[in-house]
Amino acid sequence: VPRNKNESSIILVAQDISPADALQFKNHKYGAFITELGGTNSHTAILARSLNIPSIVAAKNARRLIRNNDVLIVDGNQGIVIVNPSITILEEYYYKQNLWEIEQKKLIKIRNVKCKNLANESISLFANIEVPEDIKSVKDNNADGIGLFRTEFLFMNRPSLPDEEEQYKIYKSVTKSMGNLPVVIRTLDSGADKNIVLDKPNQSNTALGLRAIRLCLSEPHLFNTQLKAILRASAFGNIRILIPMLSSLQELRQTKMLIERAKQSLHNSKIKYNKDIQIGGMIEVPAVAINAEMFARELDFLSIGTNDLVQYTLAIDRADDSVSHLYNSLHPAVLWLIANTIKAGKKYGKHVSICGEMAGDPKLTKLLLGMGLTEFSMHPASMLIVKKQVLCSDPKKLKIKANKILKTNEPDNIEGLILDINK
Ligand code: PEP
Ligand code: MG
Repeated sequence: VPRNKNESSIILVAQDISPADALQFKNHKYGAFITELGGTNSHTAILARSLNIPSIVAAKNARRLIRNNDVLIVDGNQGIVIVNPSITILEEYYYKQNLWEIEQKKLIKIRNVKCKNLANESISLFANIEVPEDIKSVKDNNADGIGLFRTEFLFMNRPSLPDEEEQYKIYKSVTKSMGNLPVVIRTLDSGADKNIVLDKPNQSNTALGLRAIRLCLSEPHLFNTQLKAILRASAFGNIRILIPMLSSLQELRQTKMLIERAKQSLHNSKIKYNKDIQIGGMIEVPAVAINAEMFARELDFLSIGTNDLVQYTLAIDRADDSVSHLYNSLHPAVLWLIANTIKAGKKYGKHVSICGEMAGDPKLTKLLLGMGLTEFSMHPASMLIVKKQVLCSDPKKLKIKANKILKTNEPDNIEGLILDINK
């Protein structure tokens, strides 16, 4: 409910919104949105969270039940929409909104506090961004760097692809604005629900199709253009390259060869770049999380993409509302894969972060800390609430409790154990 003239009172109600459309909301400033279709971990929902506006997906018949000029309450936390509420309900929600605003003001006080647990160990909180304009909120929340730049959003809503120069300028300006802090640039991860001009609309089951690194390896010219742009920008800051959706070592080696080739071509043209640029891999295909050690050996860092890892482990389409009740980040198999990846990173002395939505969920911070995670990457709006959790966490106690969760044979107990770890 808008309280002042800076807040928008327009709530968008639609059958579905694509990530490309949601991207445009960054300029439109809706107060909230409601869709009849879509999953809570779709890129559309992720974008809504990054805008810090309430959104409800899978609200069946919303367009039939809601009319223009209706007054709506959208409670994104509880997943509730109330149409034309009574004065009493409206007042109750004004009260809730006040409490929320007070909580936000309190959180701002820890903005400059170092992110350390009770044992004085530093925990890094990085930001996920989609477009360069997101940098403002990255700074507002005092992130330790950018842990995931989803570059595919630069390729959306346009009839042609951005060329090397255009990409170079964007990557350079992002990295320069972050000073010496790390900026992890993920190479093009289009396909599935993130469509660009290259994606073929008739391809079936695109979440398992020619997407992400698979697409880039099959379009070497497109990939080379992006790699050269990233490498050129790496001369101006602390850029790292992140490869999405790896599923085999062959893919990784082929990718590294193409990066070497792009470096060589810059070298031949006497163009500067960081020769030691770090190369990391997204751990989001179960096969790779199972074989995490093999990948930890050959990569400089690992970043666990839990959004896709859950989707592929449980065979649940993350954008399909009809199965979203089965999308369970706390499934024992998912937790095992995360723990295995963290262990592999530790064994080979490689940094491991989580950049999926789990990293920004304050209810899961203590569990992930207990599993040994020290790097989190999330949309900037979640950063302070996660930091608050870190500040009051005792690593020894969390480790014991997290181990108990990992060992439980009874999936139904996990929710209870999560409540306990958060006590
Ligand atoms: C993920 O899969 O967890 C991830 C961070 O990447 P995306 O959400 O863009 O697929
Ligand atoms: Mg992913």
